[in-house]
Amino acid sequence: MTTRPIDLMRREVLAQPAYAVAESAGMIKLDAMENPYAWPGELRMAWLEALSDVELNRYPDAGARAVTAAIRAAHQVPEEAGCLLGNGSDELIQILISAVQASGRPVLSPIPTFVMYEVLARAAGVPFVGVPLKSDFDLDGPALLRALEEHRPALVFLAFPNNPTGRLYDPGLVAEVAAANPGLTVIDEAYAPFSSHSFLSQAGGASGLMVMRTMSKLGLAGLRLGYLAATREWTDALDRLRLPYNINALTQRSVSFALAHAAVLDEQAHILREQRARVSAALAALPGVRRVIPSDANFILFELAGGRGHPVFEFLRVSGILIKDVGRAGGMLTDHLRVTVGTPEENSAFLTALTEALRS
Ligand SMILES: *Cc1c(COP(=O)(O)O)cnc(C)c1O
Repeated sequence: MTTRPIDLMRREVLAQPAYAVAESAGMIKLDAMENPYAWPGELRMAWLEALSDVELNRYPDAGARAVTAAIRAAHQVPEEAGCLLGNGSDELIQILISAVQASGRPVLSPIPTFVMYEVLARAAGVPFVGVPLKSDFDLDGPALLRALEEHRPALVFLAFPNNPTGRLYDPGLVAEVAAANPGLTVIDEAYAPFSSHSFLSQAGGASGLMVMRTMSKLGLAGLRLGYLAATREWTDALDRLRLPYNINALTQRSVSFALAHAAVLDEQAHILREQRARVSAALAALPGVRRVIPSDANFILFELAGGRGHPVFEFLRVSGILIKDVGRAGGMLTDHLRVTVGTPEENSAFLTALTEALRS
């Protein structure tokens, strides 16, 4: 007799499609918040040189000590905080959820937000509570405080700034939510290189706040490295759930190298912030664009007139420009599109095609 997945796995897991990535070969890729810039030639050569003596026959340093020290220094992770590395921050989200799985208490997040909080909660059989944002995509403070009391979540994820909206929540309200939360509060700062505010200096302190960051959006998405800064009591506990050698040897060496040459990535982030202002202003001036959400990230969410979101997305796609049709999720995001900020040339191509799409 053959055993089928449905015999052993939960229906809700099987009902959920695997994480889908759009086909993008040959297109201007503005859908995934990647840094569009490559490294200058000499830096690339120096990087390959730095990789040349990595011992691929050996397991990587299990504690990833050198790269952790480099991250702590480069990002000024508070001395009292522990620092746990993940294979992308996605893995840290998974570790956090598996840590609280047996508590029976839910994961809670304002919605719409980064989908992995809910996807990974569901995969682990942990209930997920979504608290709708206000129509301007800021936190609904009273609703959130009520939900904390009613559901007593084990974990609250606050993407700061949020994805897919780009909005930075009111920091005072974030602190209030963290203080009222009976469980853990994780501030997900995936977009820190583009943001005007951070909670990292509070991580590991008396507030109990945890701060999660990633190297992905800064320009190292291919390496898969994220970190969680929290009290040592918590990073020590979570470390028990981490797979041994979760950060491979090439990633450890490459991130150390990149942080030693951080000025290059910082300059790229600076250009992208300038381009964000340019694209936001151009979008706001386009007839047919209903609103542009203020962004603290390297992408911009904008709303089109009723019913136009999907057709405009398709027009752009056929023109060779891939953005994200977040409106497909429906609800508050109906007719909203999300564009990642690219190089000046890519942004011009996007704005030209969008202008044409809105005219037709
Ligand atoms: C992209 C993103 C992540 C995931 O980052 P990885 O480190 O690449 O796994 C986490 N949180 C938010 C809010 C994101 O947008």
